[in-house]
Amino acid sequence: MHQEIYLDGNATSPVFPAARDAAMAAMDTLFGNPSSTHASGVRAKAMMDEVRACAMRVLGVGDGQLAFVSGATEGIQTAVLSALCSVKAKRDQGEAVGSLLVYGATEHKAVPESLAHWNQVLGLGMELRALPVDEKGRHDLALLSEWLDQTALLCTMAANNETGVVSDLEGIERIFQAQQSTSLWLVDCVQALGKLDIVLSQTRIDYAPFSGHKLYAPKGIGMLYVRQGAPFTPLMKGGGQESGLRAGTENMVGIAALGAVLSALEAGNTFCSHAQLSRWRDRLAAALKRAFPALVFNTPFECALPTTLNFSVPGLSSKELLDLFDAAQVRVSAGSACSAAKSQPSYVLEAMGLPQWRTTSAVRMSMGPVVDDAFIDEACQRITQCGAIAQTLGRMATGQDAVPGARMPIIQFRADAVSSWLLVDPSTRSCIAVSPHVQTVDPIHQWLTRQAYRLVAVLDTGYKSTPSAQSLDLRAAHQITAQGSDDRAPLEFSGHNLVHFVTPEGAAFGLSANRAQPSTSYVFAQSVEALASLQQLGTWGEFSQSGDAATVTACLAHDPQGVFVAPSVSLVRGNTGSTKAHADTLQGADIAAFFKAHPDAQLVDVRESFEYAATQAVNETSVPAINVPLSELVGYAPQWLAKRTTPLVFVCRGGSRSAKALQTMLHLGHPNVLHIQGGLTLSGLGQ
Ligand code: PLP
Repeated sequence: MHQEIYLDGNATSPVFPAARDAAMAAMDTLFGNPSSTHASGVRAKAMMDEVRACAMRVLGVGDGQLAFVSGATEGIQTAVLSALCSVKAKRDQGEAVGSLLVYGATEHKAVPESLAHWNQVLGLGMELRALPVDEKGRHDLALLSEWLDQTALLCTMAANNETGVVSDLEGIERIFQAQQSTSLWLVDCVQALGKLDIVLSQTRIDYAPFSGHKLYAPKGIGMLYVRQGAPFTPLMKGGGQESGLRAGTENMVGIAALGAVLSALEAGNTFCSHAQLSRWRDRLAAALKRAFPALVFNTPFECALPTTLNFSVPGLSSKELLDLFDAAQVRVSAGSACSAAKSQPSYVLEAMGLPQWRTTSAVRMSMGPVVDDAFIDEACQRITQCGAIAQTLGRMATGQDAVPGARMPIIQFRADAVSSWLLVDPSTRSCIAVSPHVQTVDPIHQWLTRQAYRLVAVLDTGYKSTPSAQSLDLRAAHQITAQGSDDRAPLEFSGHNLVHFVTPEGAAFGLSANRAQPSTSYVFAQSVEALASLQQLGTWGEFSQSGDAATVTACLAHDPQGVFVAPSVSLVRGNTGSTKAHADTLQGADIAAFFKAHPDAQLVDVRESFEYAATQAVNETSVPAINVPLSELVGYAPQWLAKRTTPLVFVCRGGSRSAKALQTMLHLGHPNVLHIQGGLTLSGLGQ
């Protein structure tokens, strides 16, 4: 199996071997409580004191204080609480104090969220104000000069986690000095540690949080710097640990590991220099540009850490790029790890005023400051492979080639409870859209553009919230609406007949092969109710050559239950799917035995074709699979249903798409389907 290329260092880092060894030693021999006065405690405390002293030297803490905390979020929390409690105390004593809480518009969410939270909890009613940044991501210092005298607390990060943009802390400091400002200043130093020189005592900074897991220590350990004389209120009270700054028995395992990282930083022979990192960044950037010629970088390199690249590729969404890289075992992200699951536009890039396509398609590639030539060589090679696959995206065959003799490809575009469908004829590169919807029209447009297909007809089943095809800007020679057809004669498409029926619940369309073989047909309708009406009208036979309605697969535009496809008759009767005797999930450990016992079983990889191709490029799964993307499954259902004794085993990356494929085939009545729990990632099959 190929090496994983981990390029998501801004989200977290692996743990250094030396840090792991130190953590193990802290568990084995230095397990004492550092507050205990016996020898075990004294030894543990000595180790902790040593780590703190090293950290204080590395960060130039001077006469300030440094407390061990659980991570940067806790450090930020403590700093904000301290600053706001001091505002409250000043107000209570009738002293003048600024009414603004100013934070950089691109701060990590931990900052504005903590400000809002403690402002509300303490009932201060202060105004939170985001300090804008320019197109390079740098703070508007002119505006800061105007705001500073009304500001109680200013929060500006040292380097941004999404873009790597380094803040002009010296410029900010000059404004503090010029105005002899007494405002408090919090600088989130999480992404700067190990990458920028920090001498805290030579700055005006009041609070600086750090996080161990961004620099090769484990999660759950961090540090908070507090300037000598800066107001302080502990977030946690208790046994008085950390000189009263933070109560609770210290995370000695984390502290020991962090200690190993800090001593390496101090020794100066482990971490790469800025110049080395810049050279490697340039190599990655060049590989990316060669692989994706239209790619644009979202931050100018001269303003950013050499460890972070942020880019967008026209025509490829963040999700597609992430899926492609992930399948090639290159781990990157769309932005901050905390919001990775939300797939929203990046607020950091929005604050920089970048166009929408770049804010929604951004990818962050970030390395830690410990890399070598071999790693960068492999990363560049993998990027090249991904680029080559992306070049073929437009020409990538629909999964149709996977099953010999497969019927016309039908592609499903699904969003929440709605589905739209494209009937595709690869020989003429033309297609028909059925039930287009506001929620699905963008991906349909994207598909048409990417594949360079001609839309020859739009069939509207009349689902109530579907606007007209014109308003969706889907133009085709034939527009058939739910109310009436421009032509009731069957439409011929790709060797099939499309027949139009009007029911009280909108239109329905029957698809049947008009060639010799009497094969299964599809019906497209807006809902289960529309199908029921169609059945009452006694029209099945018109489009199902076999006349056997049970073989007709229904493709619905709207289905709150999430069935979408089903055998039409049983669906109408409310009796969908087969009842299975055996469990329908296959665990990693049982896969080999299952395929040995069922040599005819077919493994079906339901990921997108480009993901499948990327995995093939770097890795072979131990069981040969065919690739049928989930969105194209319905086109294959008839063949699979015709051979119900052949077990089908679905697999995807993590198990959710394969679970949907399983559900679909069960609904269609296949008695012999399974899916692999945890997908390629957790089953040991691949990735
Ligand atoms: N600040 C920045 C800039 C970060 O990148 C992160 C982590 O994503 C945090 C704060 C939060 O750090 P932690 O995970 O240690 O709470």
